[in-house]
Amino acid sequence: MATPKIKSKTSTQQKSNHAPERQGAVKAAPKAKRFKSAYSKAEMEEIFRRFSVQRPEPKGELEHVNPFTLVVAVALSAQATDAGVNKATRALFKIADTPEKMLDLGEEGVTQYIKTIGLYRNKAKNVIALCRMLIDEFGSEVPKTREELIRLPGVGRKTANVVMSMAFGVPTLAVDTHVFRIANRLLMAPGTTPDEVEENLLKVIPDQYLFHAHHWLILHGRYCCKARKPECERCVIADLCRSPEKTVDVPAPLVELPQQLIGEAVE
Ligand code: SF4
Repeated sequence: MATPKIKSKTSTQQKSNHAPERQGAVKAAPKAKRFKSAYSKAEMEEIFRRFSVQRPEPKGELEHVNPFTLVVAVALSAQATDAGVNKATRALFKIADTPEKMLDLGEEGVTQYIKTIGLYRNKAKNVIALCRMLIDEFGSEVPKTREELIRLPGVGRKTANVVMSMAFGVPTLAVDTHVFRIANRLLMAPGTTPDEVEENLLKVIPDQYLFHAHHWLILHGRYCCKARKPECERCVIADLCRSPEKTVDVPAPLVELPQQLIGEAVE
């Protein structure tokens, strides 16, 4: 998964919270760029309702056996496909499913398992440093908060969000390349950075759908609204979509997808 550069922003919402509210006072125009979704609240509800019918229990496609192997898998997936990472980690996690066992393998040992993955030398170095920190500072347990997670070598905000959601059930929204593309292509939550898109998506995704939203958007982007050419004739939200790239207006039949279409080949 590609990890675009992250910039932090000050929200206009936060600023306006400090402004005194007087009846009849003329509100000053906000200085920061205003975010506007192309969809109403009802349309967003309907989009995510359809995603939930299609994939009632969406799952991430990175294989892992515990929170530790999940952190490692997500960290390895930067600039790589999930399928490529799974191929490498299947053997690795069989012999190293704890920070101690991974540390015993050493950087060279880890490298041997992951050398089919892009940037593997740097990633092997980070995995070993991550294991050391987990053992020394977190009692060999994966921490549960974003602040602690992003201290781990090779773990950024996106990885932290994925781990919080998949390992600990915290509703977060990790913005990967698919989520970023869909938010912008559909004019759902446009933004120029992953942080901006994350902030904007959190404002428009209905609360009851937030927990699975990350996977729905990824899977929709991976299998239907593809990067090079969206397959609009197979899309269940084609009637609602406001993307200038859309090619049909008639939605595909809304049915639950068979299991094999949920987790097969990765783009
Ligand atoms: S209609 Fe086309 S562009 Fe719009 S979400 Fe569906 S696949 Fe993507």
